[in-house]
Amino acid sequence: MGSLKFIVSVFLIFLVWLSIGLVKFDYLFNCFGPDLEPIGVSDAKIRAARKLFTRTPLIGEPIYFVKKTHCYNGWAGSSDASSVVVISQAVMDEFSIEELAGLIGHEIAHLENPLSNREHWEVDLRGAELTTKELMIKKLEKMAAVYTDIYDKNMIFGLPALRARLIVRDFRERLEKIKTFAK
Ligand SMILES: [Zn+2]
Repeated sequence: MGSLKFIVSVFLIFLVWLSIGLVKFDYLFNCFGPDLEPIGVSDAKIRAARKLFTRTPLIGEPIYFVKKTHCYNGWAGSSDASSVVVISQAVMDEFSIEELAGLIGHEIAHLENPLSNREHWEVDLRGAELTTKELMIKKLEKMAAVYTDIYDKNMIFGLPALRARLIVRDFRERLEKIKTFAK
């Protein structure tokens, strides 16, 4: 009977561990949600980041929104009438103006050519052209750093750490490509 109790206890501890990992996973990586707020080009930080661009994008100025999420991400979308860049609140709060410029450069590069099936690093490459190589490197290094931090803090929870690790690897690969190919 002693060993059965032991096995049940271990199993319950495993379930608790798995549940905490799943809750953390959802909290850290589920960026979906409708909480968008327009911020516009009048936002000082957006305006400062846009001033760092060295080339004029092939599209008109997009409308900017902030998404109330702690995910570190940006999104781009367009309709016939307008194009939209969405930036997460965490990025707005924690990224420097230079890092933000790199992120906006990437999103505008998506908007210039929304239907192309370029690889993601090639979108970075165009973003580096619009801003500078240095700014795109700063943005990619920042992304790798924030997800490395998430990895470090979640190492004991398994799943979220694994996901963070894969994201860090993706950003580091993109970083190497930009260091190699951007002018
Ligand atoms: Zn992208």
